Amino acid sequence: MGSEFDAIIVGAGAAGIGAARRLAAQGKSALLLEASSRLGGRAFTQDFGGYPLDLGCEWLRSGDRNAWVAIAEASGFLVDRSDPPWTKAHPGIAWDEDDEEAARKAFGDWNERLTQVAQVSDRASDALEPGGEWNAYVRAIAGFMSRVAPERISAADYLAYDAASTGWNWHLPLGYGALVVASLPSSVTLRLATSVERIDRTTEGVAVSTRAGTVRARDAILTVSTAVLAGDAIRLPSGTEPWREAAAALPLGRNEKVFLEIGCDAAFEPDSHAYGNLRDARSAAYSILPNGWPVIGAFLGGDGARILEEEGPAAGFAHATAELVALFGSDVASAVRPLAATSWSRISSIGGAYSCALPGQSQARARLAQPFEDRLFFAGEATHPFDFTTAHGAHDSGQRAADEALAALRERHRFGRRGPLSAA
Ligand SMILES: Cc1cc2nc3c(=O)[nH]c(=O)nc-3n(C[C@H](O)[C@H](O)[C@H](O)COP(=O)(O)OP(=O)(O)OC[C@H]3O[C@@H](n4cnc5c(N)ncnc54)[C@H](O)[C@@H]3O)c2cc1C
Repeated sequence: MGSEFDAIIVGAGAAGIGAARRLAAQGKSALLLEASSRLGGRAFTQDFGGYPLDLGCEWLRSGDRNAWVAIAEASGFLVDRSDPPWTKAHPGIAWDEDDEEAARKAFGDWNERLTQVAQVSDRASDALEPGGEWNAYVRAIAGFMSRVAPERISAADYLAYDAASTGWNWHLPLGYGALVVASLPSSVTLRLATSVERIDRTTEGVAVSTRAGTVRARDAILTVSTAVLAGDAIRLPSGTEPWREAAAALPLGRNEKVFLEIGCDAAFEPDSHAYGNLRDARSAAYSILPNGWPVIGAFLGGDGARILEEEGPAAGFAHATAELVALFGSDVASAVRPLAATSWSRISSIGGAYSCALPGQSQARARLAQPFEDRLFFAGEATHPFDFTTAHGAHDSGQRAADEALAALRERHRFGRRGPLSAA
């Protein structure tokens, strides 16, 4: 039976959409299969009465070399290049400035020690100062960046991201998720609410099976998260065990968000930032009145995100409200009300926030990015060599996988339908 499509893309997040854009630009037929009933995956903007809040990716990291910036500008999405709120502390917070300075210095020292640790145990927790006064702060900040406890962070992996990041963080007032979703070309065939259950190799390419039936294509591009890939939701051809093992070495950490709406008479400084408690690893980073909207966004990483995962949204709202009361006074409790809370780690088709290499496993990203028999190509944030964890890294990985599939198509065309090894 012939192939119905040049390629089937599994997963319609930033990577799947990046792959679809490349294939469509080259005039190839692509089918995009997505388990969820919406596009975007971890890129998800939800409108709350005129406030388009990003529940997943929000910041155009390394904005000066981020592919989504050009896509945004070509599609009429405003890119806000002003300084992010975390560069502007909310005035009047009762912090001891010396404490804040000491906490920041402890984080900087930990970061510096990571270079030596990367060459020995590669376990980022070994760079913590034994009994260090600010270890809770270092853990919380590492949790925002790597989403897990330092015991489970590869120092080499952490440093690879840091070294490549340009430090420019830009913003899309209409939402990062809205941009990702809007960028899917109309020529791509899309099926939402269609979970892929198995992928088989055939003599002519691949057969991709869902509950609705089996579709054939010359190639498949798999963009699901490492949590999904390491699990048993999708049956893959035999021989792909090393890819599953690589995915398991790149687990998704936790990052969750809680949004609170603020009553109009509460006085907060727009577009400012506050950190909950420098001595609590579960503490959140607060974005206050982003874009002037009457909203406070709490970003919880690692131990803080665990509150939402294990105890649910009500516990997340309570934790954020208690921290805000401690920062701004008891009147805050009656001025805020719950608006939204995420649960990325509970969504079975995602399973967490973004990937983090386990100690000694930073090479797993390169292993995961390898094609399987030049028919099955792997993309997704976790496969990027240094922009992992980001939506632009995901996009670029999708384009890289599409380029590999296009090269394989051309090669097979040159050598006949089955490719150069068909006579072997
Ligand atoms: C809270 C949070 C904050 C973040 N902040 C930022 C940020 O500020 N800046 C930034 O750049 N990045 C940020 N990120 C990370 C960024 O969102 C991700 O790295 C990126 O969106 C991942 O894209 P992806 O395509 O690799 O994976 P995904 O978005 O996970 O896409 C994979 C898709 O595959 C689908 N799928 C799974 N199983 C199947 C199946 N069996 N069949 C069919 N489809 C399937 C899923 O439903 C999903 O839509 C954040 C993430 C979170 C969670």
